[in-house]
Amino acid sequence: RRLSGPEERRLLELLAYGLVVLGAASALLLRFVPMPYGRYSSPRFGWPLPARPAWALQELPSLLVPLGLAACGGAAAAAWPNRLLLGCFVVHYAHRALIFPLLIREGKPTPFFTFVLALLFCVYNGYLQGRSLSNYAEYPSGWLKDPRFITGFIGWLTGMAINIHSDHILRNLRKPGESGYKIPRGGMFEYVSGANFFGEILEWFGFALACCTIESLAFALCTLFILGSRAKQHHQWYLEKFEDYPKNRKIVIPFVY
Ligand code: NDP
Repeated sequence: RRLSGPEERRLLELLAYGLVVLGAASALLLRFVPMPYGRYSSPRFGWPLPARPAWALQELPSLLVPLGLAACGGAAAAAWPNRLLLGCFVVHYAHRALIFPLLIREGKPTPFFTFVLALLFCVYNGYLQGRSLSNYAEYPSGWLKDPRFITGFIGWLTGMAINIHSDHILRNLRKPGESGYKIPRGGMFEYVSGANFFGEILEWFGFALACCTIESLAFALCTLFILGSRAKQHHQWYLEKFEDYPKNRKIVIPFVY
């Protein structure tokens, strides 16, 4: 039996609360076990998969699921605010699934367990954001001129630019053949250890403001929990590894935390 509109709306709401609980529980768990990929990659978490195809495959559902849902022509998919907001989500994941894996150097392998978790997350969130925006989110006429949409859109764009620029800085720290770690400098790294994570957090809070939906806010909070924890681990790791690590650098939110 197909779900009725109100039933699916309720389901999306529950999934949104679930995402926040998942993010908070992950943040709690990550206090004891670092997220097992990159510098914390470990064979204890399953077969090692090559990083490039793992990134591409695990992120692809967040690109394909919303595109598929929009193509099926949901009740709200044709409205301009919905189209633009879905476009923001899809642009991010087109970059993450198709461009980012080609840019990264073939670094540490991704453990199978981490890959499966990321894949499930992208199916879950791809459905949540895609279905909410293509079928249920309703905006008043003139929403594209509303200060919430404009501020949110600027936050999304700025966050994405910071994220891409910071990942570019990290990629270029190593010379060909090197695999060690160096102190990142320049851009937002002058303010925080997790500059790429700060960009991504800003991006999704901007998106949430522009969308004004429970689903998008849940995603932003989940990102804050998960990437905030990873940034904290990196920050502590840098402080232990490098005696000359800049002491005024915050963890992930410039001047604040
Ligand atoms: P990291 O900062 O851990 O690593 C990014 C890349 O840079 C890796 O290839 C890493 O190499 C390399 N690197 C990092 N620090 C250094 C250093 N000090 N010296 C030399 N090389 C370095 O980022 P993640 O891999 O965790 O994330 C990548 C992207 O994915 C980010 O943009 C992040 O925002 C996004 N992401 C989003 C999530 C979400 O919930 N929305 C979840 C996870 C990631 P190595 O692999 O060898 O460590």
